[in-house]
Amino acid sequence: MYYKTLRLVLGDQLNAKHTWFEQKDDSVLYVMMEMRQETDYALHHVQKVVAFFAAMRQFAADLKQQGHQVFYFKILDAENRQNLEKNVSFLIEKYKIKKFEYLLPDEYRLDVQLESLSKQLEAQQIEVSSYDTEHFLTSRHFLSDFFEGKKTYLMEFFYRTLRKKYQVLMQDSDKPLFEKWNFDAENRKAYNGKVALPPAFHFQNKTIIYTEILTEIQQAGVQTLGKIDPAHFEWTTDRTESLLLLDHFCKYSLPYFGTFQDAMYTQSTLLFHAKISFALNIKLLHPLEVIEKAVAVWQDKQFDYAQIEGFVRQILGWREYMRGVYWAQMPDYQTLNFFNHQNKLPSWFWTGETKANCLRHCIGQSLEKSYAHHIQRLMVTGNFALLAAIEPSEVDSWYLGIYADAIEWVEITNTRGMSQFADGGLVATKPYVSSANYINKMSNYCKNCFYNEKTKYGARACPFNSLYWDFYERNREKLEKNPRVSLMYKQWEKYDKEEQAKILAQAEFYKTNIEEI
Ligand code: FAD
Ligand code: SF4
Repeated sequence: MYYKTLRLVLGDQLNAKHTWFEQKDDSVLYVMMEMRQETDYALHHVQKVVAFFAAMRQFAADLKQQGHQVFYFKILDAENRQNLEKNVSFLIEKYKIKKFEYLLPDEYRLDVQLESLSKQLEAQQIEVSSYDTEHFLTSRHFLSDFFEGKKTYLMEFFYRTLRKKYQVLMQDSDKPLFEKWNFDAENRKAYNGKVALPPAFHFQNKTIIYTEILTEIQQAGVQTLGKIDPAHFEWTTDRTESLLLLDHFCKYSLPYFGTFQDAMYTQSTLLFHAKISFALNIKLLHPLEVIEKAVAVWQDKQFDYAQIEGFVRQILGWREYMRGVYWAQMPDYQTLNFFNHQNKLPSWFWTGETKANCLRHCIGQSLEKSYAHHIQRLMVTGNFALLAAIEPSEVDSWYLGIYADAIEWVEITNTRGMSQFADGGLVATKPYVSSANYINKMSNYCKNCFYNEKTKYGARACPFNSLYWDFYERNREKLEKNPRVSLMYKQWEKYDKEEQAKILAQAEFYKTNIEEI
């Protein structure tokens, strides 16, 4: 059997609605690969690897059922070379292929690899073409063109432009609904238990599939982190189930999404969040269908407008924006370290064994579920890493590994950019740091903590408090002139010198004894 064309579908390119799949063509062979190259470039959470492979296997099965020709390399297959170039070359030779086609990858490292492979193939007279994934709402370089010559990229302007372009929540074509673009100020409430939590979504029982994949990756010797229970697997790995999860979110959680999006609560992992990032990032869901569905539900139910605006902002704003930043700034972005932080992450980031309740909860939950919502990532683990002067690459590796939704384009821009301010303020206008004050206001973590959220030094003083002032003091030169931060320095000056010395000594103690926190 020979084929004319080989088409590559990567593990995060599971877009069933792509024009590629509109017509059956027996001269085209689609290839999908489970590879050590992908399982080993970071230490991934075990649920992330299982979820990817399950979604890929289902997608390949669906393509075959529709009549497409598919070659699927499983991780244990003898002919699997575990490497992209080698597997492609193997198939080209085996099936006397004349043309290689691929969808543009989302990751820089794969882009480089595919360009190099393309050159090798062209040298062998194989024709090569690349295609858009038809997933994002902006092209790779839309953002860099939009902000050309600017020192900072203000998300707000980018977001407004896309609202107009896609006519989302607009009136008279160029005015925002209710005459206001941004309702963020109304979206910052702590959860007080008065609004009932949404019912849990019932994930399909695919225990047999998840167990089989788990056994295979273990047999292959793939190293992973975190926990898994195949009988209670909480990721959607096919399009039908992802659409059901989206429906469930719109029905039960969207009406309170904005209000509680910054809240943290020990009794609920999700609160009112959607948990659709994995399905979106591997393209089982399209961002526009997610937005359209959410807007339609809001139009039907007419709940508070701030909720839907807050949600649309995440998908149409932040998600597209982060992708644009990635392609505008890579590969340099991965080396940025504005504060020249050099410390190592404490080992308890991999066990959750710390006396600090907020960190124990967020890390423990991440190890158990491969999920944390935005504020847990930003204002607990990310906040701590920034205050403790952890080297940004250490932080990136942890985030890239632990979350099922972590793909570099959206992980690194959020981690190194938004959370660690390693780009010096390209993405965030000020560093996202806080003392215990914010964590206590937005969560119920402090109530049951070994540490005292009110004290800055002395026995059991909350580490966030002293590290917070230490952060500002040691980065004075870099931050003092930032108008959004200068007020903090005025507040710091109100402490007398003796008090300041005690706070800084306490911070030094925690940094030196970080393993014991
Ligand atoms: P919801 O809160 O329900 O939001 C809905 C959707 O909006 C998300 O699914 C996501 O697609 C989008 N969204 C919201 N915020 C962002 C954002 N800042 N950037 C991009 N999209 C956003 N998101 C990832 O998808 N992958 C990552 O690797 C990732 N790493 C992060 C690392 C750090 C340090 C931080 C602070 C944030 C990170 N985020 C990442 C963004 C955000 O935390 C997750 O998208 C979100 O928690 C996913 O859960 P959800 O689907 O329940 O989101
Ligand atoms: Fe976290 Fe400090 Fe609150 Fe403990 S007291 S939960 S360490 S913020």
